[in-house]
Amino acid sequence: MSCDPLSLVHDGVRGLTPYQPGKPIEELERELGLSHIVKLASNESPLGPSPKARAMVQVCLDELSRYPDGGGTDLRGALAERHGVPGACITLGNGSNDVLELIARLFVSREHDVVFSEHAFAVYPLVTRAIGARAVATRAREWGHDLDAMADAIGEDTRLVFIANPNNPTGTWNDAESLEGFLDKVPDRVIVVIDQAYAEYVDAPGYADCIPWLSRYGNLIVTRTFSKAYGLAALRVGYSVSSPEIGELLNRVRQPFNVNSLALAAAVAALEDDEHLARSVAVNEEGMQQLRAGFDAMGIGYIPSVGNFLCFEVPRSAGDAGRVYTDLLHEGVIVRPVGGYGLPGHLRVTAGLEDENSLFLQALARVIDAR
Ligand SMILES: *Cc1c(COP(=O)(O)O)cnc(C)c1O
Repeated sequence: MSCDPLSLVHDGVRGLTPYQPGKPIEELERELGLSHIVKLASNESPLGPSPKARAMVQVCLDELSRYPDGGGTDLRGALAERHGVPGACITLGNGSNDVLELIARLFVSREHDVVFSEHAFAVYPLVTRAIGARAVATRAREWGHDLDAMADAIGEDTRLVFIANPNNPTGTWNDAESLEGFLDKVPDRVIVVIDQAYAEYVDAPGYADCIPWLSRYGNLIVTRTFSKAYGLAALRVGYSVSSPEIGELLNRVRQPFNVNSLALAAAVAALEDDEHLARSVAVNEEGMQQLRAGFDAMGIGYIPSVGNFLCFEVPRSAGDAGRVYTDLLHEGVIVRPVGGYGLPGHLRVTAGLEDENSLFLQALARVIDAR
């Protein structure tokens, strides 16, 4: 008899579509034989990491035979100091994606609900369905999280709420007052994750670092990452800040060596280089302005974003977004389709360096004019 593995998994996994990452540069090179490719598809930092982080990786290459520090002592210490919390509040992950999954696995079983918003980060439905729990997606308001709708969606079986602030792929955000109002309403038995993957980029008045709120809300978990403004996406390192009690539980279910030595050392060095971080934020601000000005000049609409990316509307005259995405690939520019996020008429572009943004805008103009 032949084995039918699909019949052995639960409905959540049976209905699951794998995460669709941005197209790798090498893949496009291979497919189309292009050489000068601009990738603005995965919200990566165009500036890359701090040179000090790079240097630390070089040093670590001499110790590859050793297991990493499973406790991540130095990095957790540095993060605890940075955020003014005890080290026991910090849980490190192989990217913050790892921590998001650990949180879901720790608190959620098949009989539970997980609440998040329409157009929210794809990992939330993914980790929910992988467990076989019920995903409750609330309607967005002006593309962003409708916190009232999310509070209303919390029921007896709800264990977990995911809020991306700012959200990817929309770049929308919720202010401190509305978030605190939301947290005041949420029952203590519901864990609330506020995912601040892009916090370093945001300077909007009313936007808050939510970590100081942990003393007031025992059910709150804040997640952060080194993949975006710190430019270390390849190394996979992120973390959560929570109560020490939640930290202790997360520590029970994580893999003993879930963050590698190169990532641990590079993250410590990156955290010390505030100057580089400021440069990366400044380059992003310039890039975002350049993209907005370019879209405005072409009469192309976009969702207002406080992150390092913009979701723009593909003009009707240009045909469907999938065609424009493919045409841009032929121009050597990789952006990100967001149909899977319930945004079939949009594409997402990451702010790059000045010349990358120019190449993208010129390619987009050609692609649209050709239709
Ligand atoms: C990119 C991103 C993350 C995390 O990425 P990691 O590389 O796994 O740290 C988390 N949340 C959102 C909303 C993101 O866009």
